[in-house]
Amino acid sequence: MQKDFKDIVSHAKEYGFVFPSSDIYDGLQAVYDYGQNGVELKNNLKQAWWKAMTQLQDNIVGIDSAIFMHPTIWKASGHVESFNDPMVDNKDSKKRYRADTLIEDRATEMENAGNKAGADSLLSEMNQLLEASDLKGVHELIVRENIKCPVSGTCNWTEVRQFNLMFSTQVGSVSDESSTLYLRPETAQGIFVNFLNVQKTGRMKIPFGIAQIGKAFRNEIVARQFIFRMREFEQMEMQFFVRPGTELQWYESWKNIRLRFHQALGLQAEDLRWHEHEKLAHYANAAVDIEYRFPFGFKEMEGIHSRTDFDLKSHQEFSKKKQQYFDNDLDANGKPFGNYIPFVVETSVGADRLFLAILCNAYTSETVQDGEQTKERTYLNLHPALSPFKIAVCPIVKKDGLGELGQKIYRELKTSFMATYDEKDSIGKRYTRQDLIGTPYCLAVDYQSLEDGTVTIRHRNSMQQDRMTLEEVKAMLQTNTSISVLLNQMQA
Ligand code: ATP
Repeated sequence: MQKDFKDIVSHAKEYGFVFPSSDIYDGLQAVYDYGQNGVELKNNLKQAWWKAMTQLQDNIVGIDSAIFMHPTIWKASGHVESFNDPMVDNKDSKKRYRADTLIEDRATEMENAGNKAGADSLLSEMNQLLEASDLKGVHELIVRENIKCPVSGTCNWTEVRQFNLMFSTQVGSVSDESSTLYLRPETAQGIFVNFLNVQKTGRMKIPFGIAQIGKAFRNEIVARQFIFRMREFEQMEMQFFVRPGTELQWYESWKNIRLRFHQALGLQAEDLRWHEHEKLAHYANAAVDIEYRFPFGFKEMEGIHSRTDFDLKSHQEFSKKKQQYFDNDLDANGKPFGNYIPFVVETSVGADRLFLAILCNAYTSETVQDGEQTKERTYLNLHPALSPFKIAVCPIVKKDGLGELGQKIYRELKTSFMATYDEKDSIGKRYTRQDLIGTPYCLAVDYQSLEDGTVTIRHRNSMQQDRMTLEEVKAMLQTNTSISVLLNQMQA
């Protein structure tokens, strides 16, 4: 099914998932707020990730480090020097673009027109130029390919310049260079600088990991595609510390674990693919992205990187504090492996990009037969463990004690499950409202409920209805809607 991205974006706003930030002031580019349903879905995703990466693992613990960090950290990590994107302006439209994105878009056009070899060769030429920091060459490539500005339609480009993506701010009352802090552009460094704190206080033995969920900030040159590319976003990152020489084995193993995670959440195998990096970052010896087929094409959702010992080594140099681990396991010669700086395999997924993938995957618009009539129906086919609400309690009418019984059932359910109560409008309208936000079950209280305590459960996807006792409803919710269902699937 071809899904229209515009419909998904409007749905997100109309049903309380995602709002433009500062909406009454016409929004702030590339910044978004999560609404009443969005925050529940996002929290469920974060909880699924957190439990999959800590509770389900034997040797991973979590931390929550501060957004502000010592400015030297960003020198050690290489971000001050090289966390740049190449940008270029069109002199006629005055619009700014990422030079690499312009070329990549051209390559996609070529591929779509059946010229895969041409596209590959263009990308490889661009990668070589970027690797050599040959910005003049990148400019020449844009001109040679006759890439035009989509707004002005001209090829009148400025030279290509590097643009650092870190936001900076001043701390304290004096403003000089020493008081400049950066808003972290990734959460990973908070993990690296706490490596020894956690290892020592947690008596962690290699291989072990540290996980973290938190905000990151990047002054993206071009903000596009809704919450796909934001200036303030959330990352879910895990750094796995391993013995040098074993990193590529762990890298393979994490690739599989992470793919299984996305599939357990409901993303389809055919909508996920690997993208091996040709051009490796300065710190990596292997890197791959998990791409999801968004309505605008396959794009990165998660990165898995073998980061060598680059970060810890660099922090050791800059901080003058040893970042070593003593490994008392014995090697093939019966001697302890001894002191070394561990190698790191990292998994890094954007909470917002995952949210967008899950929303796109869930958005379903179909034609159904309703008696004699055919009707359009839209619903969110979310995994019940991710749905903002697990069940909606709906008395078929308010009178004759059905409202009171409905309220009693609702109060009983809501201490264990995210439940909502709705008695307004016709029952059909209420079902539709719940379908639109992805509630997997609606519970109807009717006259028979007054007599024997049974209720009708209406299933979101199939629209089928079953008669059940309240105990059966609770058991069904317990089995189908908790995060443990997802964890079991990931472990299987
Ligand atoms: P891209 O190439 O799309 O800019 P990246 O390779 O720079 O992404 P990483 O630095 O590997 O991304 O960050 C890890 C993850 O963080 C990404 O896979 C993505 O899910 C998320 N992420 C990165 N930048 C953004 C952003 N501007 N908005 C939302 N999520 C982001």
